[in-house]
This record gives sequence, C-alpha cells and structure tokens, in this order.
Amino acid sequence: MPIVGDTIIVATRNAGKVREFTHAFSSLGLTVRSLSDYPNIPDVEEDGETFLENALKKAKTVAEKLNIPVLADDSGLCVGRLNGEPGVFSARYAGEHGNDDANNAKLLAALQALPDCETTTISSSERVHEKWLSPAQFVCALVLYDPAKKQAYEAVGTSDGYITDHPRGTNGFGYDPLFYIPSYDRTMAELTTEEKQRISHRGEALRLLRQRLSII
Ligand code: IMP
Repeated sequence: MPIVGDTIIVATRNAGKVREFTHAFSSLGLTVRSLSDYPNIPDVEEDGETFLENALKKAKTVAEKLNIPVLADDSGLCVGRLNGEPGVFSARYAGEHGNDDANNAKLLAALQALPDCETTTISSSERVHEKWLSPAQFVCALVLYDPAKKQAYEAVGTSDGYITDHPRGTNGFGYDPLFYIPSYDRTMAELTTEEKQRISHRGEALRLLRQRLSII
C-alpha cells in the first residue's frame, strides 16, 4: 500500500476537503497532512480539461517534489441547465479562486437569468416540496501517485441532486448550501460530515480508491 507510515499527504489547501479527508482516514488510523503543512510548495496550475487530468497533475507534481506518495482531489459541480458548467472551473467560477459565496451567487444569477428559468417543485413525496432550478451533479476525481513506482491509482465518484433557489445550511463547503438531496430532504450543507461522506462524490471516490488499494 503506497502510503508512508501512518500519514497520508493530500495535495490541497482547501480546508473543507481536508476536514472530509481527515474524517474519512481517521477510521483507518491515518493522519492527514495537507499543503498547508508544506507552505513552500507552490499551487499547481489546474489547466486540464477533465477532473482526472487535474487530479493526476496535482498528485504527480507534489509527489515528485516530496518524493513520497501523494493523494490529490479535483472536484466540482456540473449543472444540467448550464450545460455542465462550472465543471472544472468550479473553484474559480466567479473569478477569485475558492470564493464560495461569490461562486454560489454567480450560480444562482446564471440560472435565474436563463430565458426559461422557472423553479420546479419536487412533489413525488408528500414530505418533500423543494423548489429547484436545475438538476446537478458533483464529481470527484481522486488520484494517489506513487513516485517510486511511477504509478497512479485513480477513482471517480459522483453525487446527484438539484440546485435550490436559495442557500441553506452551514456545514460542508463550496456549493453545498445550494445542493439539495431529495432522499434526505436537506441540502448537502445541512448534512453532518458522516452523512455527507455516505452519499457524496468524495465519499464514493474514496470507497472506490480504497477497494483499488485493497485497504478495506
Ligand atoms: P478544486 O480545488 O479545483 O478541486 O476545486 C473544487 C471546487 O469545486 C471547490 O472550490 C468547490 O467550489 C467545488 N466543490 C468540490 N467538492 C465540493 C463539495 O463536496 N461540496 C461543495 N463544493 C464542492
């Protein structure tokens, strides 16, 4: 298993991702370190056309600099009525990298500006009467790169939901307050870390990666 000792390095400075990885790996007895612990490593430019390309670039670049295996996550939100946008541009959708409030405001404005914009009500269950603007999918590509073997281990997870017409909840990060999940009748930001892990794109990608690495 290409992990050094009881520590796994995740090539990110995103505090929300670090929190979720810390939670997921703690059950395996692994401590997570992120790029916040390595301030001298510069940010890797995310210029790939797919989540997997970006994740591979981040994992390989940082792993080769540190000369140890490194895990990278490239993820984002693909919105149906916006033809899959913001996709790989999710973190910098409104311009400034990682400005979640600005990204969420831009997403709502973009959907409300569509000529055929209307909220649709989910009424399949009596309990659920949520208004939504578009179907959407979160995607998470994970790559663990082992520089000694020059080998990449990859996994992709997805999570389906709907973009609501107003943000709700304070947990999670990024677009979570706008991402409504009918089976929970809550937004992703109203789930606990445990609940999010169970149904999220990141949780699914982690389960697939662990299967691939035979550490379950
Ligand atoms: P990355 O650093 O390029 O992978 O950027 C990921 C961006 O996608 C984040 O800044 C968020 O805007 C969005 N994103 C990825 N995963 C999640 C999630 O689990 N919840 C909410 N937003 C997410």
